[in-house]
Formats: sequence, C-alpha cells, structure tokens
Amino acid sequence: MKAEIVCIGTELLLGQILDTNAAFLAEELAGLGIDLYHKLTVGDNLERIVAALRQAWQRADLLILSGGLGPTQDDLTREAVAALLGEELTPRQAAWEQIVAYFHKMDRPYPESNRRQALFPASGQVIANSFGTAPALWVEREGRVLVALPGVPYELKGIWNESVRERLGRILAAEGNPLLTSRTIRMVGIGESAMEEQVIDLIAAQSNPTIAPYAGRGEVSLRITAKGFREDENWRLIDALTEKVRARLGGYIYGYDQDNLETAIGRLLRERGWRLALAESCTGGLMAHRITNVAGSSDYYLGGVNSYSNELKMAVLGVPESTLAEHGAVSPETARAMAAGIRRLTGAEVGLSATGIAGPGGGTAEKPVGLVYLGVDLPGYSQVERRIFPLDRIGNKESAAQAGLALLWQ
Ligand code: ATP
Ligand code: MG
Repeated sequence: MKAEIVCIGTELLLGQILDTNAAFLAEELAGLGIDLYHKLTVGDNLERIVAALRQAWQRADLLILSGGLGPTQDDLTREAVAALLGEELTPRQAAWEQIVAYFHKMDRPYPESNRRQALFPASGQVIANSFGTAPALWVEREGRVLVALPGVPYELKGIWNESVRERLGRILAAEGNPLLTSRTIRMVGIGESAMEEQVIDLIAAQSNPTIAPYAGRGEVSLRITAKGFREDENWRLIDALTEKVRARLGGYIYGYDQDNLETAIGRLLRERGWRLALAESCTGGLMAHRITNVAGSSDYYLGGVNSYSNELKMAVLGVPESTLAEHGAVSPETARAMAAGIRRLTGAEVGLSATGIAGPGGGTAEKPVGLVYLGVDLPGYSQVERRIFPLDRIGNKESAAQAGLALLWQ
C-alpha cells in the first residue's frame, strides 16, 4: 500500500507552527509497513487543496489529510474532498449527534457554525472524535482510502490511536500483508553508542524481528519489530528478543512504548512507598511540571520550591550562606544542600535538586553556559551529578530537567 500525507493549513506554510502531525503520521505508517513516498503541505485555499488531493489520489492508495475540519470559513477540507470525489456535501445526522454530544459533555451550547462540521460527501463515513468537535472523515472508493483528520495534534493522534490505525491494519491484513508488530524499549543513563555496543551482535544478526536504536533528548531507545501473519507469533519473537536486551541493558530500561520517564518514576515511587519533593533553580519548575503531568502524582509528589534566588535558597531550603559564598549557586555543594533542604522542609523520602546556568549569558571559563548540578538526597544517601549541555536556554533547561529526572532512575 502506498500512502500520501496532505497537511492543510496556511500557518504551516508561514512557518508559524511546526508540522508535527506529518511526523507522527509518517512514523505510524512506517510502523504499519505502508510506504510513504510524498508529503504535501497546502494552504487554506480550496483550489489548491483540490489540486493537491487530485495529485495525491493519482499516485497513492491511501491519502491521509490533516487539518481544515474546523467550523470556520477557512476550514475547507470537507469541500475539497467533495470536489475530489465529485459529490455534494449534505448534512449527516450521525456526525451532528456527535458534535452536539461533545458540546453537551463540555456543558456548553453549540454554535450554529458547527453545523458545517456535520457536512459529509455521500461516500464519506463518519469517524467518531472523542477528543474534540470535528468528526473525522473516511472514504473508501476504487480500492483506495482517504482519511481526513482534524489538525489539532491531540485530536489527530487520539482518533488515529482509537480507530484509524486498527482500520488500516484490517485492510492490510485482508490484502494478505503480513502484520508488523513492534515494541520500543526506553532507557536513560546510557548514551546511544554505549547502548549500541551492548547489542551490536543482535543488530548485526537481525532479520525477524529487526532491532533499531534511536536517540532522543537525554534518552535512548531500541525498537523491536516483528513481521508475520499471526500477532501472537510476532509477540513471541519480540518477547524473546526483549529478554536478551533486558539481560544486557536492564538497569537502564525505565519503560516501554508509550511510557515516559515521569510515569516510570511515579510507578517506582509508588512501589517503594516513597514521596518526592523538588528544589529547582535553573529548571524553573520544569521537573515539577513533568512529574505533575502524570495523573495520580499527588500520591507520591509532595511539592517543590522554585528557588531561583540565593535568598530563597537560604531562607526556604536552608542552604548555608557560606556554601553560596564559597562555592557559588551553581556548585555541587549547593545542589547537595538544596536536595537535603527540600527533604527537611517537606519530610519527603526523596529530594531532587537542579542548579545551573541556562544561558545565553552568565557563563565563565570555569562555569560555562549549560553547566548544571543535579542532586539527589535519600535517607542515608546523597549524590550529585555534573552535566554540561550545549544547547540554547530552553534546550538547556529541558535537558537539565530530563537529566534530573533520569537521576531518580539510577
Ligand atoms: P479546528 O477545529 O481547531 O479548526 P481543524 O481540523 O480545522 O481544527 P486546523 O484549523 O487546520 O484544524 O488546525 C488547528 C490547529 O491545530 C492549528 O492552529 C495548529 O495549532 C494545529 N495544527 C494544524 N495542523 C498541524 C500540523 N500539521 N502539525 C501540528 N499542528 C497542527
Ligand atoms: Mg481550523
């Protein structure tokens, strides 16, 4: 099956937003074993959208559209698909009921303009959207499939995961294609090349399943993919290879697939019955933000202090004035005192701190921009780690937060 992605939205052409939907969809298609030869981006202009769709419809068996399903006049995807198919748009009761139900759930009255979102071409099927107002559109014709998804990334991903991926999988299976099944093994505390060295023989020997390393910001992963006609057989192959990887890299593995570091930390703290508190300087609350992104984090996260100034480090966290005077705010001594201080203040079993120089100014030869000290304090144990990140201010802050959270894993 050959696919083509068409992203619709003038803001994409103006560079105002990054096309994360195309990246998400491309990765998903690769995971399904569907070939993607072209991606198109087109502005909110009916003529140009229709032209883009015609071109894509000629070349591909599967068209995935992103954006332009909203209720406003510049949301033209429905009109463009109708023009491509040579069909009229008519109100569709099933779609309208979903829109009304969505507004009802939000306890808001529905604006009349939303009626546009219930207009469907005759051969269009309604795909439910539990994440927003716009129902998605599915068309099967002449052996080809067209799916139009809303542009809001959260909605697009939600609908994809909830129904579109599975529907495409069924079509692929019916066409006699083998199923692709994969698992991502997520790790922190090890670099990409060191990780690869540990499994280089497995990578060299791969045929089915295949195994591939990936590097992200402050973490690495291995993706294992099996191909076969039976899903249970695919999982058996993946499980066997996962065990081999675990035997070599188990200490670095924090989770699998959709896991992230903060959910894994939550599981760990819960298991041990420990509570966490944070003392953040250069990360400005980013660690607290990530920890509290996890539902139920109140079970193990007590809170934190965003002690940006020396005054607050002293007054609230009890960092001694002499430590700051002698070693400076960005020092292993201060990081250690902050982590111990937040534990004293909150009674948490685990204290985690970050202090560093985010940049772009403020660096010296001895303490360059990007330098950060991360401290962990537990009953009878304390550790400080020094890292230097080469990024811009935001990148350094995010990397420091990631490295701090990764420290809890080690
Ligand atoms: P809405 O109901 O919000 O109007 P829509 O289906 O009409 O949804 P758009 O209006 O095209 O979608 O986009 C809505 C928002 O989603 C955009 O403002 C943008 O922030 C985001 N968005 C759209 N397309 C993309 C994309 N390809 N990648 C990332 N974000 C996107
Ligand atoms: Mg819109």
